[in-house]
Amino acid sequence: MVTDRQLFLNNLAQTSDSPLALEITKAEGIYLFDSSGKRYIDLISGISVSNIGHRHPAVIKAIKDQADKYLHLMVYGEYIQAPQVRLAAELAALLPESLNNCYFVNSGSEAVEGALKLAKRYTGRKKIVYFNHAYHGSTHGSLSVMGNDSYQLAFGPLLPGVNRIEFNSLDSLNVISSETACVIVEPVQGEAGIIAGTQEFIRALRKRCNETGTLLVFDEIQTGLGRTGTMFAFEKYKVVPDILLLAKGLGGGMPIGAFISSREIMHSLAFNPVLGHITTFGGHPVSCAAALATIGVIIEEKLADSVDTKSRLFVELLEQNPSIRQIRSAGLLIALQLDNYDHVKKVIDNCIENGVITDWFLFNDSSIRIAPPLTITEEQIRVACSVILNALRTN
Ligand code: PMP
Repeated sequence: MVTDRQLFLNNLAQTSDSPLALEITKAEGIYLFDSSGKRYIDLISGISVSNIGHRHPAVIKAIKDQADKYLHLMVYGEYIQAPQVRLAAELAALLPESLNNCYFVNSGSEAVEGALKLAKRYTGRKKIVYFNHAYHGSTHGSLSVMGNDSYQLAFGPLLPGVNRIEFNSLDSLNVISSETACVIVEPVQGEAGIIAGTQEFIRALRKRCNETGTLLVFDEIQTGLGRTGTMFAFEKYKVVPDILLLAKGLGGGMPIGAFISSREIMHSLAFNPVLGHITTFGGHPVSCAAALATIGVIIEEKLADSVDTKSRLFVELLEQNPSIRQIRSAGLLIALQLDNYDHVKKVIDNCIENGVITDWFLFNDSSIRIAPPLTITEEQIRVACSVILNALRTN
């Protein structure tokens, strides 16, 4: 009989020669279970997705209730669908007044695409500024603002008029001019290996955008929904972006993305031409119902409030280990900096063998990624850290 592992290797497009290839048959809370029944602590949340844990009962109920009513009805923006409009209203209620209008899409990359188009259309400008080591997705537009040469060169030509500048460098902000439509930035760079924007830098960036009439786009696709200790990371910087991007954790395990701005800015997608941005499935009712339930869980279980304490516990338990050169963290986005990829690989493999899933970062393969569900308990953190410490000691 052909095994699922063989089907995986033969019939599913492979994009690396070393996939984790765990055969997961069930997930619940912070745990994944493989086909042999082995249990793993998920310390990466499907890359910052499962903020409220896997299969949260409130999300499962919302999905089932919505499935009993309707699935896809019509392309985006034509029919009034309760899960969509209520999710938009809930987000508007959580966000500042200038972020009161949501466009729902299916993924993070699509949210980026929508935001870049919106900024060009609203400002009438053609140039876009982005940062070194930034990750915003893998489609042509989002790849054009990926701060990495090897990915960009392999798939060029990409968007013209894009300018890459240094993150956390005040000098580099001079590149932003009255010709710049938007600057896209992750307040905490995720795939770079958790590099937080400094308060000074993010505020100076906001100021420079104000001076030049440039829209500031915050990609909070990894930092959003409680992960850094506030519902959105921008709250920690006391600046408000002109466009906010969400995806990943928003759907509680279902696919959804959003670009969010003011009604005035968003209106520029409605004329010359009408239907300036179109999606068939964007804002799928089941995903929106799941997202609404997810936000409810984050608020009711006060998940963001315990993030800093849990983050500190990880750091306290791990920082004494001599192989860890540095720990960088922004709430429950944590990077353990080791010396090189080989060591990271051995530690990750050993952790998986012993029931803890970690990972590295796309642009930093000498660091270990820790981004567990925010629901993880202190006791579970201790168990996970003892496995990591043991892997570091023996490898
Ligand atoms: N922006 C950031 C900051 C991300 O981390 C990611 C995904 N890792 C994306 C955008 C793209 O999201 P998606 O994979 O859903 O297209």
